[in-house]
Amino acid sequence: MTTTDKQLPANIMLEKWADIGFFWQGALTIAELPRLAEQAEIDGVLAASVALAKTDGIIWLNYQLSGTLLLQCQRCLEPLSLQTQEQYRLAVLADEAQTALIDDADYLLLDELGAGNVHKLPIKQLMEDELLLGLPLSPRHDDCQMLINDDDTQEQEPEDNPFAILAGLKGKLS
Ligand SMILES: [Zn+2]
Repeated sequence: MTTTDKQLPANIMLEKWADIGFFWQGALTIAELPRLAEQAEIDGVLAASVALAKTDGIIWLNYQLSGTLLLQCQRCLEPLSLQTQEQYRLAVLADEAQTALIDDADYLLLDELGAGNVHKLPIKQLMEDELLLGLPLSPRHDDCQMLINDDDTQEQEPEDNPFAILAGLKGKLS
């Protein structure tokens, strides 16, 4: 099954989809990623595609995320954009013994995803975890304009006047 226009479900029900395969392509909104929303915004759309399929008895989840996140520069407090374009791969294993079959791929155990006949892969949560891991601890512009200012000498001059800024610099150097 392929869906392109519906929202990505929070969970992929493995009993329903593992054998026939689950595919989804679309856009995620910041409202669907509440933990990320505490630290970032999405500039435009965050494009995502998800493919879950069983190969040789192992369930593989492949997904991609691409878009631009907006963070706040910790120095000047202005927006800082962060491109993200990542591919992720994760196996769902029936038991630890199957790790021998997946090289060093990341994995989850089926037992961690539920019990009985109900196993849910929390796809949105996984995506959000990866996005959060990719955020810098202390985001700063590489060429942050605030770098030239000491904390105790906040700009007195209008910022859009290059001569005033130059004069300020000369004052500090002498
Ligand atoms: Zn900055």
